[in-house]
Formats: sequence, structure tokens, C-alpha cells
Amino acid sequence: MMTTSAQSVTLGAEKPKDTQNEEQKKLMSLYKNVEAVTNIPWYILAAIDQYERNVRHSRNDIPKAEGLIEIYIKPEVWTGPLNPNKEDKNPTSIGLFGGIGEDGDGDDLADPNNDMDVLYSFAHYLESYGTDLENLKIGLWDYYQRDKSVGLILGHMKLYKKYGHLKLDKHAFPVPLNHNYSYKNTWGDARGWGGRRIHEGTDIFANYGVPVRATCFGVIEMKGWNKFGGWRIGIRDIDNTYHYFAHLNGFADGLAVGQVVEPGQLIGSVGSSGYGPPGTSGKFPPHLHYGLYKDNGRTEWSFDPYPHLRAWERADRNR
Ligand SMILES: [Zn+2]
Repeated sequence: MMTTSAQSVTLGAEKPKDTQNEEQKKLMSLYKNVEAVTNIPWYILAAIDQYERNVRHSRNDIPKAEGLIEIYIKPEVWTGPLNPNKEDKNPTSIGLFGGIGEDGDGDDLADPNNDMDVLYSFAHYLESYGTDLENLKIGLWDYYQRDKSVGLILGHMKLYKKYGHLKLDKHAFPVPLNHNYSYKNTWGDARGWGGRRIHEGTDIFANYGVPVRATCFGVIEMKGWNKFGGWRIGIRDIDNTYHYFAHLNGFADGLAVGQVVEPGQLIGSVGSSGYGPPGTSGKFPPHLHYGLYKDNGRTEWSFDPYPHLRAWERADRNR
């Protein structure tokens, strides 16, 4: 994984709760409206929009969205590759040049800054592949040409479909507060277990067998052995953040890659696995190594989990 620890990241609520709830209500009604006319399920539209929202918020080469829908369609794709007018909003000429831009709100304009137009156009593009999951995947791959992007969208889709709403930003501290544990801010320290470079994460020291819990709503993306991390698990949340748990003693029963988990759900227990072939343990004191990584549609980088852990610990205490 690439790492540039200088980049800072906000997790979850960047806006006041009321504004967020209001926006999520409006978004849901946009998704449902477009589902009604294209037969593309709302949770797929929501997943694409959310993937693009995350990408847009972590890059500065894509213009800020004017509306609520954040799917960015490049001018040459919107207006058609051979269209001499890259600002064309005429649905007829766009159609002639093979652009995907269409009029979704009935004002006779195909406007890439209009929420309904963007969502409808993208849904209509996907619909041309078919509305079953296999064909939708092909449509997504043709559009993004990157397995990782399609994988992230499918993960978001699972979460939205399972929970039926857009609000999935709840977090939990990875260790139950009634157990003994300790941790401090070691971000960037030269020492530490789990890597040879700077220490990319927070070590939470606790006894063998202390429960380790999911910190977010997410999808298990990786589970297994790594020479340094030992038994470890990776969970991808709806904000495209990857939550990494290493040196585990073992995993909770039945956990599998692709499975959806919730904040507070048991995923394993604290151990000291790692630094050798599978099963190696006891080369350092038992602790949970917890890391956070972000993906911006091109690369991945790690950021400091410590302030987030402090906030989740506080929230758990107040619950
Ligand atoms: Zn560590």
C-alpha cells in the first residue's frame, strides 16, 4: 500500500447532523425516482454515487459537485467523444455524437450539473447492459475500467441493500470498554510491530482473548495470514475507509470475505500473531494493531487512527 501520512482525513460527519439527514432524504428520493423509470435498483445508484462522492472528496483534479449527486461524468463522455462542443446540453446532438448525457428532469436540457440529469443518464447507460447484477457489473467495468472501483461499488451496494437506508456512519471502539486495555498516540514512531517503515496505526495493548469488534458498518475485504500482521482482517466502510486489524489470536466463527459487519460486532480476539510462518505467536506482547487506509480511486494511503479511536471510545462510554 502507498502511504503519505501527511494527508489528513475526516471520518463521518463533516456536516451538522440535521443537514446530513436532510440531504440523505433528498438523495434517497432522487435514487427512488430514477429507479422507477430505469429499473436500476436505488441501492446500486446510491453505491455509485457514494463511491464517486468519496473519490471526489479526496482528489483536487475533479471539480466540486454543484448538486447533491456527485457522479462525475467527463465532458467528452457526457457530450460524446467526437462532439466539437464540450459544453453541449442539447440531448439530440449529444445523442448523435454518442454521449451519455440525457435530460432527466424534463427541461429539454442535458445538464451535467443537474442532479436528475446526471443520475438518470448514468442509470440509463447501465440499463443498456441489462438490469441483473452480472450485466450491471459489466457496465460498471466498462465505465470505470478498474476492478477496485467496481469492487468498492459492489461493497457499498451490499450495505445499502441490507440496511435499506443511507445512514451508515456509526462507529464503535474495537475493544469492549469493560476490559483492560491501553493505547497511546504512536503515529509515525520508528519502532512498532507490524511494519518495517514508520508505525502506521495504533497499538491497543490488552490480554490474550480480549474481544475485538468491528469499528464500522462495512464489508470484510480481506481475512487471513500475513508474515508481519499475523492473523488479520480488513473491513471496508461506506466512506471508502479500510479498517485493518492485525496480530489477532483468532477470528469469530463463520466470518468470511464479502460478509457485511456492523459496529460492535465480534470479529476476533487480541493476540500476538505474526513475524513468522502461519501460526507464529508470542514474539511480542499481545496487542491489537489497528490501522486506517483511504482509497481515492487511484491509490491508497494510511492515516492516523488515534483521534478517531479516542472519539469512538468516548461515544461508546456515553451510550
Ligand atoms: Zn502496531
